[in-house]
Amino acid sequence: MGRRKKRTTMRVTRRRRKSAFFRCPRCQHNSITVEIKEKEGVAVIRCFNCGLVEEVKVYSGDTKVDVYTRFFDSYIERMESE
Ligand SMILES: [Zn+2]
Repeated sequence: MGRRKKRTTMRVTRRRRKSAFFRCPRCQHNSITVEIKEKEGVAVIRCFNCGLVEEVKVYSGDTKVDVYTRFFDSYIERMESE
């Protein structure tokens, strides 16, 4: 029988996470959005609750979570050194 093998496609299944927002280190709300601008090599972190805006560097392969984690760490560091 000419049963075809299941083709494994390299297509990425787009699974949208329900909570697209990250926690803001300033106002503690889950209202941070991360916008990666690959062309410019930066990502814009925005909190729509308190208005915090930060621009951070992105490296190839960075996910929003990576960018957010880096931003969060550096923010906390800056807070502590003040
Ligand atoms: Zn905030």
